[in-house]
Amino acid sequence: MSRGQPIGISGVKFMPPVHIEREANHVLDTWAASGHPRSLPVPIDEIIELHLGLTLEFVDLRDQLGIDDVLGAIFPDRKLIKIDSLLEDPAHRGRCAFTMAHEVGHWVLHRHLMHADAEQSSLFGFEPGPVLVCRSGFRPPEEMQADKFASYLLMPRAEILDAWARWRGSHAQASLADVMSETGLGDLDAAVRKFVRPLADEIGVSAQALGIRLRDLKLIVPHVQPSLFG
Ligand SMILES: [Zn+2]
Repeated sequence: MSRGQPIGISGVKFMPPVHIEREANHVLDTWAASGHPRSLPVPIDEIIELHLGLTLEFVDLRDQLGIDDVLGAIFPDRKLIKIDSLLEDPAHRGRCAFTMAHEVGHWVLHRHLMHADAEQSSLFGFEPGPVLVCRSGFRPPEEMQADKFASYLLMPRAEILDAWARWRGSHAQASLADVMSETGLGDLDAAVRKFVRPLADEIGVSAQALGIRLRDLKLIVPHVQPSLFG
């Protein structure tokens, strides 16, 4: 029996990215409505505990579950999120924030689809009740959706467009050729990560996650098209 997925989740449907983005923005807007201005870095731990009323715990999940690539887990009945203690290291600040935001994604998008599997819960030493375990090497559709949600929650479109303009001095796109020439690196992914790292550190996300988001927002593009408006 696989030890990868001690859960019951069913009925995960395709969700258009625009729908996932709307759900993430709804969390940020309701947080802002309670008197916290929208700004970067997004205070994900405060949103989890103060706004959503979930408990956040850092524990040695790798040891508890015997799964090497476990990142986090959510127990919706107990309103509890556990994050693997390895991610508490300041060197993993961005990855930690992303994992927390990913668990919020499951809370918002999937908690109504999760059901208890008592046998598997007890196998893992958990109290009976639904649990979703998240691993870096296991990516079924609900994991991809929670990743998208985390990206939208930590790097919301409007705030990232502003941050980019402040950082670059204009709203102009950067081409991949610019990125490689500014960093002096020939490997595309490594060049993007090096290029965005100063902004990623400011925003509290990993350079990898920001690179993906900036390409998604077409701020980093294969080729800059001449402007129609000169
Ligand atoms: Zn997950």
